[in-house]
Amino acid sequence: MITLIKGFHDILPDDSPRWEFIVRTAAETLRRFGFREMTPPIMERTELFERGIGELTDIVEKEMYTFEDRNGESLTLRPEATAGMLRAVAEHSLLRKEPVLKVFTIGPMFRRERPSKGRFRQFFQVDAEVVGDDSPFTDAEVIAAAHAIMTNIGATGLMMEINSVGCPECRARYRVVLQDFLRAYLTELCDDCRRRYERNPLRALDCKVARCEEIARDAPLILDHLDESCRSHFQAVQDALRMLGIPYRIEPRMVRGLDYYTRTAFEIVHEELGRSKAVGGGGRYDSLLKELGGPDVGGIGFAIGLERLSMGLSDDDPRFTRSIDVYVAALGDRAQPEAFRILDLLRKAGIAADTRYSTKSLKAHLKVADRFRATRVVMLGDNELERNEATIRDMNTKEQFTVRIENIVAFLQGAES
Ligand code: AMP
Repeated sequence: MITLIKGFHDILPDDSPRWEFIVRTAAETLRRFGFREMTPPIMERTELFERGIGELTDIVEKEMYTFEDRNGESLTLRPEATAGMLRAVAEHSLLRKEPVLKVFTIGPMFRRERPSKGRFRQFFQVDAEVVGDDSPFTDAEVIAAAHAIMTNIGATGLMMEINSVGCPECRARYRVVLQDFLRAYLTELCDDCRRRYERNPLRALDCKVARCEEIARDAPLILDHLDESCRSHFQAVQDALRMLGIPYRIEPRMVRGLDYYTRTAFEIVHEELGRSKAVGGGGRYDSLLKELGGPDVGGIGFAIGLERLSMGLSDDDPRFTRSIDVYVAALGDRAQPEAFRILDLLRKAGIAADTRYSTKSLKAHLKVADRFRATRVVMLGDNELERNEATIRDMNTKEQFTVRIENIVAFLQGAES
């Protein structure tokens, strides 16, 4: 048997209603906040991610699915959506028509991480971006949109963890302070952090290696090195979050795994999954669009992982069980073509209907109808057909009705309203 690639997963038919609910709720919530959908491709030129996410990040260094196309060009399956979204914004000059653009996309991302519960190599994200605006209200609104997606899906026990990673000037100053601090521990840091010490020391704050985490605990905080405008921006974001009643906590060591963030960074944490498996995260990027060849305007966005959202939804939820409106049971050889024809009429009338042609006995048909959770069953027996009639059973009340064949669709439509 040829099996799945490690870390990839199938969304099976029984999982689909739950999955579809998550996708629909995320899209509806974002539309309510003024976002419009956009769908960039899942593969881009490798340099887009190198330039966008940053060369000295775990994602770019270790996790990308990169390969050489037949013409020698290096291509990469997207590890995240923001870079591709902003590439499209720049390439199609979308800001010319709409100087503040609110867009979202939903689709698969690919990272070659070590698979574990809730950690896959292909996983889905809903990703939302506001480009062309730098108001702190926008930051709070974006955090509120992420929070609303989660609560509309039914998640509880959420905490928004926020931080400010400052602007490039604050960060340049902080970098020196952080390097001064880390210097004493250079031999104790993991290989990655030691290697990134010169060009990207902030990565050490994000490192999951136990000793690095310990060292980071005593490190100076970027919040103590923000300039006045970054500090007041961060304060305004917090004030706005309080106005909306969004639960948040300042997490001063959070820098997130991507290099493009400036000022506000945030993660959505669920009590049960904990910090290492955040459900979502995002932040402001004030120079990413320019870096990718677009105009010099900032933006802010977030991504929420759909698998982790789905983990919070119960398997027993009646909203996600299979169901069909009508099951048609043909009881006899003459009834079969009639069932075939009636099914077609029902579907054309917008009624979800199904049958099993190979099933013959009433008992077996009703068992299938139960499994399909049909609300009504049309029973066609040869004798009834002689009289041009069928029996319709309401599966909830167990009531039965005799209906003329030509009235079946109207009866079932009427019974629906
Ligand atoms: P990131 O783009 O790393 O900030 O991730 C945003 C969200 O995507 C996370 O909070 C997760 O919900 C989800 N996510 C990231 N990586 C994975 C993964 N390997 N498997 C499943 N979900 C993931």
